[in-house]
Amino acid sequence: MRLHDKHGRAITDLRVSITDRCNYKCVYCRTGNEGALYSELPFSDYLRLVRIFVQLGIEKVRLTGGEPLLRNGLVDFVRDLAKLRTLDNQPLDLAVTTNGHLLSELVQPLKEAGLRRATVSMDAVDAEKFARITRVPNGYESVLAGIRAAKRAGLEPVKVNCVLLRGFNEDQIVEFARFSREESVVVRFIEFMPLEEDRVWSPHVVVTMDEILEKLNQFRPVRQLPNTPSETARRYTFDDGKGEIGIIAPVSHPFCGHCSRVRLTSDGKVRTCLFSLLDHDLAGRMYRGASDAELSDYVCSVVDQKEARHHIGEPGFVKPSRSMVHIGG
Ligand code: SAM
Repeated sequence: MRLHDKHGRAITDLRVSITDRCNYKCVYCRTGNEGALYSELPFSDYLRLVRIFVQLGIEKVRLTGGEPLLRNGLVDFVRDLAKLRTLDNQPLDLAVTTNGHLLSELVQPLKEAGLRRATVSMDAVDAEKFARITRVPNGYESVLAGIRAAKRAGLEPVKVNCVLLRGFNEDQIVEFARFSREESVVVRFIEFMPLEEDRVWSPHVVVTMDEILEKLNQFRPVRQLPNTPSETARRYTFDDGKGEIGIIAPVSHPFCGHCSRVRLTSDGKVRTCLFSLLDHDLAGRMYRGASDAELSDYVCSVVDQKEARHHIGEPGFVKPSRSMVHIGG
């Protein structure tokens, strides 16, 4: 049995938030006043739930949060996940999304435990601008050290994700292109989505894929690289083949028809879309004594109902019941 939804999409990718806590307060994500709002489960419970998903065809597991590197015991958890096998008897594609602040000290043990890939979020390549966005002083050097340590540890390709906001950091587009070329990392620009705690989003603030491409082309001619259908980023390099830029454009060029993802929140709820209006309480069922078979049936019934698409920018758009930091991006 492999997970599919009623729209015929195969679900192969699970994102697990392992904590609702974060040590950054990025202006486009958090209000700056709220802390964690949801609980976290013991790792043994996430492991049981992930195993159920893997028996249903999940092949990629990405740990996220909040900030996943804040969670004590993470290395042992990764070691346990690395022992799981997909339905094709392959190891999982195990990845982490992190703000990178604690990465330089943890990356080697994580790699040795079985982590395959790391994505680091970084919204400016300028220390001062970075501090204004994250509202944490002196973070830039730590994150840069984390990115370099991930490369040294062999978690290639290291991906650096940047959310662009008009009037805030769109002047970083060309700087990030240089960064990708100099540091040999994949830089991915993500369009800003209405998933913030505050009310910051408006269509005007979104820096779109077309604008990003225009700025990149002014720097150096870009050429597109091939994609796989379920890949969210459109990939580009420059005329000389140096550097790689991905553009993830859920707002201007939605890719819901190819979505292969499902999410588990830190408190053990299944979310079938970032923009879901409800959670499905998988952990609650587990704590009330459901068997693995019952949990598995529940996951199948929930995934079947996965939303066809998001409605960003449409007149009836309703903000989702949780913001990005409390879902797990
Ligand atoms: N703390 C980790 C990190 O910084 O990567 C993981 C959690 S964070 C919520 C995951 C990703 O979501 C980050 O790359 C962040 O930039 C992105 N993100 C947060 N709010 C967003 C929004 N409204 N639109 C698009 N991306 C967003």
